[in-house]
Amino acid sequence: MRLEGSCHCGAVRFALQSRHPYPFNLCYCSICRKTAGGGGYAINLGGDFASLEVVGREHVRVYHAKMREPGQADAEESPAERHFCGICASCLWLWDPRWPDLVHPFASAIDSALPKPPERTHLMLASKASWVEPAIGPSDRQFAGYPAESISDWHERLGLADDA
Ligand SMILES: [Zn+2]
Ligand SMILES: [Zn+2]
Repeated sequence: MRLEGSCHCGAVRFALQSRHPYPFNLCYCSICRKTAGGGGYAINLGGDFASLEVVGREHVRVYHAKMREPGQADAEESPAERHFCGICASCLWLWDPRWPDLVHPFASAIDSALPKPPERTHLMLASKASWVEPAIGPSDRQFAGYPAESISDWHERLGLADDA
């Protein structure tokens, strides 16, 4: 399906083609929580990078997450590019040079009506904030770290990949 999104102030608008638009993947890691997930997690969707159209690109800024293991002196920089609006700070999409054909818009920035997922994946639960009580549904899956199943795999398993 075609997804349309925007930041809160409206300076940036974007659109892309997505075969994997279900917002099922809730990540509780500290990067997602601090940059995009005030409720304790953020949700990325899967899309086709070649189809990404951006209006207001001059307002888009990029954050490379600083990552530091406990006891490690120097932070390492993630190669992933977290794109956000430089005016209102809305998180827009993530692009990673390790998977250059994909783009991962944040569900929170999408204006199109997204389909409701029949089950959810809760990942990076080992990193969740202590005050966050995940709402685990009866069919939901839970992972302390990253699951082996990708966003694409999840859609294929459930027969929900969207070619429209
Ligand atoms: Zn904005
Ligand atoms: Zn995360």
